[in-house]
Amino acid sequence: MGAVAGQEENETILAACVVGWPVKHSRSPLIHNYWIKLHKLSAEYRREEIPPEAFKQFITNLSARGYVGANVTLPHKEAALALSEADDRARAVGAANTLWLDRGHLRSTNTDVEGFTANLDAAVPGWDRALGEAVVLGAGGSARAVVYGLIERGSERIHIVNRTPERAQALRTLFGGAVEPAHWHALPHLLARTGLLVNATSLGMSGQPPLKIDLAPLHADAVVADLVYAPLETALLKTARDRGLATADGLGMLLHQAVRGFQLWFGVRPEVTPELRALIEADLVARGE
Ligand code: NAP
Repeated sequence: MGAVAGQEENETILAACVVGWPVKHSRSPLIHNYWIKLHKLSAEYRREEIPPEAFKQFITNLSARGYVGANVTLPHKEAALALSEADDRARAVGAANTLWLDRGHLRSTNTDVEGFTANLDAAVPGWDRALGEAVVLGAGGSARAVVYGLIERGSERIHIVNRTPERAQALRTLFGGAVEPAHWHALPHLLARTGLLVNATSLGMSGQPPLKIDLAPLHADAVVADLVYAPLETALLKTARDRGLATADGLGMLLHQAVRGFQLWFGVRPEVTPELRALIEADLVARGE
């Protein structure tokens, strides 16, 4: 494992980082440094702003730079996949967001899959007990992670509703017959029979167009999840809560997806605590998001 010398003699500090271009916006340092402090580890988590042309050089020399692993954010996630030994999740999603060194091998995964399912487990225990049909809005990178997670948990049919039909079709090609591309105008009919609605588009995010959708056809025990976390409470989640539906929000997913990387790098499985959530919420509010 790579490590950097600490300030004190004989002290070894394990280090990980988030690599992006730009990387200022990333909440990962707040999350991981909170856990490092909580667990009293000799460790550091830093930001590394690396342009695309320097990414390969950076990531293939992680150990020499003193890192045991890294998170990868835009625009490097596809390059990270190509430059590492990726697991099934990263390959299916088409992007790697977490890298770690394993006896000299640079391995990768995509933790959005477990971020999505673990957040639902925490927010709506038993959500997958009788998982029949699900509706996923969107067919981008995060929708792929959602579909992977839903198939893992036994969803029988996943209707993908996306502005660009070819991208929804691509998910069917990738994941097979459980995935059913559908049109926006079919939504009322689909919502009436679904147990889970997931927004995996950027609609409803600050600065993006609103997500206009009528939740009236959903039955009372349906669950609504939104991947968007800025604003914290999206219009979709507010409408769902006003109707008494169970919900899971995007911030929860963001926090839960960080767990695996921390465990891989530092050997401790951290918990998503209310205190951590409050810390990131305060940061989002302070930044006006
Ligand atoms: P992406 O790959 O760029 O996909 C964006 C999706 O949004 C596509 O399906 C796109 O449809 C759709 N879309 C964008 N603008 C639209 C519009 N005006 N009308 C209709 N559809 C529109 O992005 P992504 O990585 O999947 O991320 C999607 C959202 O999830 C973002 O808000 C992101 O912040 C959030 N996210 C959250 C987490 C978390 O941990 N909470 C993790 C990952 C992502 P087309 O295919 O037609 O372009």
